[in-house]
Amino acid sequence: MNVELFTSEKIQKMGPVFNHFSFDNHEQIVFCNDEDTGLKAIIGIHNTVLGPALGGTRMWNYQSEWEALYDVLRLSRGMTFKSALAGLDLGGGKAVIIGDAKKQKNDALMKRFAEFVHSLSGKYITAEDIGMETRDMDIMKEVTPYVSGISESLGGSGNPSPVTAYGVFMGIKASCKYVYGSDEIHGKKIWVQGVGNVGETLVKHLTEAGAHVIITDIYKEKLKEISNKYGATIYDGLDVFSQSVDIYAPCALGATINDQTINKLKAKIIAGGANNQLEDENKHGKLLKEKGIVYAPDFLINAGGIINVNAEVAGYDLKESMKRTENIYNTTLEIFNLSDKEGITTHEAALNIALRRIEKRKKDLVS
Ligand code: NAD
Repeated sequence: MNVELFTSEKIQKMGPVFNHFSFDNHEQIVFCNDEDTGLKAIIGIHNTVLGPALGGTRMWNYQSEWEALYDVLRLSRGMTFKSALAGLDLGGGKAVIIGDAKKQKNDALMKRFAEFVHSLSGKYITAEDIGMETRDMDIMKEVTPYVSGISESLGGSGNPSPVTAYGVFMGIKASCKYVYGSDEIHGKKIWVQGVGNVGETLVKHLTEAGAHVIITDIYKEKLKEISNKYGATIYDGLDVFSQSVDIYAPCALGATINDQTINKLKAKIIAGGANNQLEDENKHGKLLKEKGIVYAPDFLINAGGIINVNAEVAGYDLKESMKRTENIYNTTLEIFNLSDKEGITTHEAALNIALRRIEKRKKDLVS
């Protein structure tokens, strides 16, 4: 075993978790380490006032453990507000596994990770996120009941991504209604960034509705496949953020709306499935408002997936999930109107509703 001796000065310099800039009163952070399988994972439980913390597991080749911690802190916090806003009795949690899912994921690793999830006795329930498939959830289910998004053949709700994409499509339609006075998608030029599970189904909805869809992804083969399947155009310019589009739909990683990109963007609307799109939700939310770019909050319009996996926990069916997801259209318009009325950003408007619901439950639990 390699044990590095730290001087007290060195320890002082290490950013403690509680002072990490992404730390926001998270209830519990669990570091999972297993030498035999090579598992290195972090489970973040942000808040369980409304119920067990439900949120997917992401497997990503993080550049550093700090980057993974940053991601899980932000993602788990986002889940708290997503479920609260969607009216679900769920708290916010998320997990990250450090590694390349295409090369390092195997059944032994997933089962070991499932043991860690199980050790939390249901306080955290997992599901799919980037790098995970329904099959991985099925494998985990052999070890722990605290898994959702398992195969329909095993009594689960299957991959949540199609429902997520449908909710994003509803959010895009509502954004068009707000900006253009009509929710007609036909003829709109829409950039979908990332054509994975969510992005692909979104491209399907958009092309079926007659949009001119431009796609980007770091996996070139996937781009070709989606382009052939749906007639979407692969972006071949030099500066993707500067391209002229009506709508930008981020469906890859988070923090794509930042100091570098915000001034390049020409889109009138940002509405996509990725979590944590604003690198700094206050600063960049305000900048978008100042620039007159309408931003449909990510945790509002990408809630279809959590609504769907919640069906497994709460016991309702796909039809009901789709109905609830369709309502994202109305909620998006309500949030836009509230943002106008109160002179706050759309992100703040959505966040305030979520926070009020959590605060109310907290008081109800005490009294
Ligand atoms: P996925 O792994 O299936 O797809 C992500 C895609 O983005 C991949 O094809 C990847 O190659 C691509 N990508 C990565 N970096 C990129 C970049 N810089 N530019 C362009 N493409 C890039 O994941 P997913 O399940 O489709 O999730 C996409 C996003 O939506 C994530 O942020 C996820 O957290 C969020 N989300 C997913 C769900 C769900 O139901 N799957 C629910 C809510 C939110």
